[in-house]
Order: sequence, then structure tokens, then C-alpha cells
Amino acid sequence: MNSHDLIVIGAGPGGYVAAIRAAQLGMNVACIEKESALGGTCLRVGCIPSKALLESSELYEEAKHSFDKHGIMIDKMSLDLDAMMQRKKRVVDGLTKGIAGLFKKNKITHYQGRGRLAGPGQVVVASAEGEQTLTATHILIATGSKVARLPGVEPDGERIGTSTEALSYSKVPDHLVVIGGGVIGLELGSVWRRLGSRVTVLEYLDRIMPGTDNEVAAAALKLFKKQGIEFHLGCRVTGASSKKKHARVEIDGQDPIECNKVLLCTGRVPMTDGLGLESVGIQVDKRGRIPVSADFKTTADGVYAIGDVIEGPMLAHKAEEEGIACVEEIATGHSHVDYNAIPSVAYTHPEIASVGKTEEQLTEEGIEYRKGKFSFMANGRAKALNQTDGFVKVLADAKTDRLLGVHIIGPRAGDLIAEAATAMAFSASSEDVARACHAHPTLAEVLKEACMAVTSGAIHS
Ligand code: FAD
Ligand code: NAD
Repeated sequence: MNSHDLIVIGAGPGGYVAAIRAAQLGMNVACIEKESALGGTCLRVGCIPSKALLESSELYEEAKHSFDKHGIMIDKMSLDLDAMMQRKKRVVDGLTKGIAGLFKKNKITHYQGRGRLAGPGQVVVASAEGEQTLTATHILIATGSKVARLPGVEPDGERIGTSTEALSYSKVPDHLVVIGGGVIGLELGSVWRRLGSRVTVLEYLDRIMPGTDNEVAAAALKLFKKQGIEFHLGCRVTGASSKKKHARVEIDGQDPIECNKVLLCTGRVPMTDGLGLESVGIQVDKRGRIPVSADFKTTADGVYAIGDVIEGPMLAHKAEEEGIACVEEIATGHSHVDYNAIPSVAYTHPEIASVGKTEEQLTEEGIEYRKGKFSFMANGRAKALNQTDGFVKVLADAKTDRLLGVHIIGPRAGDLIAEAATAMAFSASSEDVARACHAHPTLAEVLKEACMAVTSGAIHS
């Protein structure tokens, strides 16, 4: 029977990063993954392939509609969707193989198969070759999440599918109906709209992107509508069915919509199917998540959980931070994840990024704050890029000036938010950021000016 200090179940960003850090800390580590490629949802069918297609489709859109503004004229242009998909595959393959290389380098034993707990300190790996029992002092569950089902909408992988299918359509659908105006719907809806589809987003709430600062979400909705995405808000989808030549989507109290493809993206749920949690007495909560303590201990001795399978935002970098903190706690007795400073980014155009609290959360919690806002319109670099839509909004404590939240909609917001997240991790004030010298001309100057607007006043407004 093979024995390890730590067995990690799941090789997504939570699990593979935890395995590497644990090996660096001197543990004898194994990682079990049921799929043939390492990297989890994020690398195989999530963050990476979606960003590859977002980049390609954005280039296509720019070449079609914006290059002429730079004086670049293109006579003939066409889309080779197959080549675009091949590039996406190369990006994914390069990264998943890279993890296999990192496992080798760090002497991590990789078991391919489905892992399940089989009592204290025991894990069974089931694969085509049969079953094998492993033992470990510590077991880390990092099994991630899967698509949430919507009653009446059964994905058939053909006309009705999830993000996985929408990352690989073999031709551009004439009409794509997206169920859910969250981040997957907006990112993948953007990809296919740019490539030529009519895209209709059906959203249950009267707004898009729940959880995002209201002012930012409202600005985003306006821009996405201008780009040509159709939105039906306050609209509850009750069913979808595949017909011979089209799909039909049923909406509560409204006429059904016919289309070519349906993308179901109404959220994700933790993945604990067949994991044998009962063998160690772990019970999931009402939302199917594994309950853990601040140091990621489950109710079973020596069993830990991190990432999408536990509470918190379903984000790759959140899973990574937890993976590192969990194994550092095991090895050294110290760990820390700063949940106030976890950024989130939607890679739409423009990008939408935030860290910390929204205005709505601060108001609800009765926290007094001051607000500074600055537009990309007044920024030299944004003008040079020909991308002036959007703004940065900074929220700081009314008494201490400590940063409480930063919300950005605008060019490269996903990169700009890193400065705000770092500042918040160091408990910086808006004045700290405002007084730091920012290179000119850069988009980061918009964050500096928004911070200046909190107290002393922005210069260029
Ligand atoms: P996962 O990445 O889901 O990995 C879990 C792994 O465990 C999987 O490989 C699975 O096969 C394996 N597994 C499950 N059960 C077993 C078992 N019993 N035995 C063996 N192996 C098992 N997040 C971002 O931060 N940025 C983004 O841009 C982003 N884009 C996304 C786009 C899409 C389309 C989707 C669907 C998600 C996106 N996410 C993004 C979310 C991100 O993918 C997840 O938050 C992240 O992958 C969670 O990491 P994890 O390690 O917890 O789980
Ligand atoms: P989501 O929770 O972001 O959005 C789902 C949306 O569907 C919500 O707006 C909800 O109101 C709506 N909805 C629910 N039921 C409905 C119904 N019956 N009819 C119409 N609308 C309905 O979920 P998602 O977009 O599927 O994304 C899943 C997870 O993946 C998210 O938690 C996100 O964190 C992660 N993700 C992150 C990124 C990123 O960081 N860039 C990208 C993609 C996915």
C-alpha cells in the first residue's frame, strides 16, 4: 500500500498549487486527478480557454471595426474559426503539460483516476486498471465545482450546452441564447457576439453581474447593449428543449425564444459526487459545500478542503491562496488568506475588476466612506489606445482613509486591480496610493487620480 504525507484529490489551481507548495516544504505528496490533463476546470475548460478565445475574438473585432481609426486599412479579412480553436488548444495544452513538468520537478506522485475517501487516512483511486488503496497522514479535498442544473433545461451537448461546449462550437451560431447574466454569460456571450452571433442574454434579476458594484454593473450593461448584446432582465427561464432545426427557450410569463444554441450558465455547485465523504463523517452544507475552519480543517481529523468545493467566491486565485495557506498551516502552523483583498475580474471589453466592498455593502453595513472617481476619458494612455470608456471608483473609510473597495470598468482593469489589491493587503490609505509616483502616460494614473479625488482632488478633472 502506497503511503504519503499528503494526498491531494483534484489537480485544479487549488490542488496542484497546494501539492507543489507542500512538496517544496518537504512533504511526500501525491495528487489524484480523474481527467487525463492536469489543471482542473480553470486550465482545461475555464479561465484559460475562455481567455484565449476572448483575446482572439477581440483582435478580430478590433481588426474589423477599430484598426481604421489608427489609419490601418485592411482590404479583405475573414475568420478561420478552426484555426482560432487550434490556437486555444495549444495554449491549454502548453499549460496543462507544464503542470505535469512541475509535478515531476517537485517529485509529486501523480495518480490518474477518481479518488474517494475510504475511512480515516485512506483514499481509493479508481481507474481503468482497477482500484488501489493509498494511505496518508493528511488528505486535501480540492475537487472544485460543476455546472449547476436548472430544472427544465437539460444540456444535450448539441443545441443546449454549458460553458464547456460554448468554448468549442464548430461554427458561429446565428443566434445564441445565454441563460444567466453572470460572468460566464458575459464573457462567452462577448466572444460569440464578436465572431458574428446574435446574442440574447436572459437574466432573472433586474441587473447583470450580481455582487458587482451597482454603478459599475449599470455602466457595463449600457456598454454591452451598445456593442449589440440583447438583454432581457427580470426574466426567469423555466425550460429549454431541442427541436430538429432549433432550440426553444421557455420564459415565465413571456413568449418563448427560438435560437440555434443555448448556453446554460446560471452558476456552479461544489463537486463532491462519489467522494466518500460519509466514510469519514463529513456532511456538506445546504449549498453542497464542505464546511471548514479558518485553517481549512473539515470535521474529519486530517482531512482538509479548499477552493470551489468550500465557501467563498469560485475563483482560481482564491483556490490557489487557500491551497498554499492550507499546506503551510500543516507544515509550519502558520497561514493566512486575506479575504478582504481577493480581486475579481470579468474579461469582457472593457474589463471589469474589483477588490473589497461595494458601495451597497458599505451602506448596508453602516460604514461611513468617502468616494473618489476618475474617468478613463481624461487619461492620455487611454486616448492613445482609443479605449476611453469607463472609470475607477475608490471607496475609503471616512475617518481613517483606509481603502475599503476599488471598482474599475475600463481598459486592462484586470491588470490595474493588482495595485489596488496589494495596497489593500498592506492596509494602505487612499492618500498612500495618491502620493505614490505613477509612470506617465499609463492607465494606472486613473487609479492614482481616483485616490486623489477621495481627499485632495484629482488634477485632470
Ligand atoms: P477545479 O479547477 O474545478 O479542479 C478540481 C479538479 O478536481 C478537476 O480537475 C476535477 O477533474 C478533479 N476531481 C473532481 N473530483 C475528483 C475525484 N473524485 N477524483 C479525482 N479528481 C477529481 N476563475 C478565475 O479566477 N478567473 C477566470 O478567468 C475564470 N474563468 C472561468 C471560465 C469558465 C468558463 C469557468 C467554468 C470557470 C472560470 N473560473 C475562473 C473559475 C475557476 O475555473 C474555478 O474557480 C477554479 O478552477 C477552482 O479551482 P479548484 O482547484 O477549486 O477546482
Ligand atoms: P454567476 O453566479 O456568475 O451568474 C449566474 C446568473 O444566472 C446570475 O446572474 C443569476 O441571477 C442568473 N440566473 C439564475 N437562475 C436563472 C434563471 N432561471 N433564469 C435566468 N437567469 C438565471 O454564474 P456563472 O456565470 O455560471 O459563473 C459560475 C462561476 O464561475 C462564478 O462563480 C464565477 O466566479 C466563476 N467564473 C469566473 C470568471 C472570472 O473570474 N473571470 C469567469 C467565468 C466564471
